[in-house]
Amino acid sequence: MQGRKKWRVIVVGGGAAGMAAGITAARQGASVTILEHMDRVGKKLLSTGNGRCNLGNRFLREDGYRCSQKAFPGNVLSRFGIKEAQEFLESFGIVIKEKNGYWYPKSEQAAAVVDLFEIELKRQQIQVITGYTVHRILFQGEDDFLVQTDHGDFLGERVILAAGSKAAPFTGSDGSGYQLAEDLGHRIFSPLPALVQLRCQEKFFKQLSGVRCEGKVTLYAGAKKLAEDLGEIQLTDYGISGIPVFQVSRYASVALANKKQVKAVLDFLPSMNMEEARQFFLFRRNHFGHVKWGDFLTGILPKKLASVILKETGISFQQNVAKIPPAIYETLLNHTKAFEVTVTATNSYEQAQTCCGGVDTREIRPENLESRLVPGLYLVGELLDVDGICGGYNLQWAWTTGCLAGKSAGKVPIALG
Ligand SMILES: Cc1cc2nc3c(=O)[nH]c(=O)nc-3n(C[C@H](O)[C@H](O)[C@H](O)COP(=O)(O)OP(=O)(O)OC[C@H]3O[C@@H](n4cnc5c(N)ncnc54)[C@H](O)[C@@H]3O)c2cc1C
Repeated sequence: MQGRKKWRVIVVGGGAAGMAAGITAARQGASVTILEHMDRVGKKLLSTGNGRCNLGNRFLREDGYRCSQKAFPGNVLSRFGIKEAQEFLESFGIVIKEKNGYWYPKSEQAAAVVDLFEIELKRQQIQVITGYTVHRILFQGEDDFLVQTDHGDFLGERVILAAGSKAAPFTGSDGSGYQLAEDLGHRIFSPLPALVQLRCQEKFFKQLSGVRCEGKVTLYAGAKKLAEDLGEIQLTDYGISGIPVFQVSRYASVALANKKQVKAVLDFLPSMNMEEARQFFLFRRNHFGHVKWGDFLTGILPKKLASVILKETGISFQQNVAKIPPAIYETLLNHTKAFEVTVTATNSYEQAQTCCGGVDTREIRPENLESRLVPGLYLVGELLDVDGICGGYNLQWAWTTGCLAGKSAGKVPIALG
């Protein structure tokens, strides 16, 4: 036992949600300890937003969250939304800078966000213990938890489980939180990688590595459309990446786990509809008949991509554009606006930014994130069966759930007599 002290709140995991929970609980007057198994807190936060930390989003929409219980994220966010998150972050010195609605720290350094969290943890006299792995949480009765670690046990009245998911295990988020929650009776929907690259079958990807271009990604399982998104698509030697791919990736994860055939249809001319693109191609054919087929898409698509698409038509690159039969333009149109690729897998948890799946939210109270099964236990952040799209949604979820849980768990009962 770590001394005889009984903590009002023990937070398991010193990530974004755990630190927000700890600070909020301590501000209520609670004694708080944070147990973190890495050598420092906030490791995942350091990698966010390519090191710039996209803290939130002014235009946050409820439908940017996915959860088996559809209304749950909105219900929780209605109690602590962007305004409250901004106030919370500013309360310990984070200065928010906005770019197209996306929030970053003014210095655009994730490390600065972690620094300011650490300063506030100290100011609130929160005991932060790093290098301790929690392997069991025992509920012994009302206001009585025993938290077992590899370096001894801790006693607490409330426990906030903020151990993250399985995404980016190098940051400490290794999935152990699911087991801790399951041992306490919670149901876990199998976690799968989300906000992640998609691996594809086609051999031509080797030639396309490094290409970036504006486009629309539409994902299908068999004939069923799953999701679509628009933005900069990145082509790699194994498949597709970039923000629009990340946004739809969780649907690919789920469909692949259910053994569905998954394909992505890429539209490389998303600003034109099919007829506009047809007219555009006809115009080019009529005006540039002298150009060789190999140059028909020059200046429209990146060269490597144009070459793969033109090759798919089977026409020699040396042929003059004027001599190409009209039917070939239809084929070209289809390859440019509906380029089909077969998705075979997602990249692993190592590359995923978050997970879909997690603790069943039917077992969680939306007002304070307390377990409906174990009184005094709170479950927050990425551990829950809620995943947000790119754009600050997942950190907003960490602030929202962490602060709501911390406020509730940290309330210190007034001593009578
Ligand atoms: C590369 C990358 C970029 C991202 N960029 C953004 C972005 O810009 N904006 C955005 O909104 N979201 C972003 N995300 C997602 C966001 O970072 C997470 O959703 C958020 O950090 C989750 O917070 P959390 O506290 O729930 O989990 P985590 O941050 O994963 O924290 C969990 C903590 O618990 C600890 N822990 C786990 N198990 C134990 C145990 N048994 N004992 C003790 N400690 C334990 C872990 O070490 C970890 O520190 C990004 C994620 C990644 C990987």
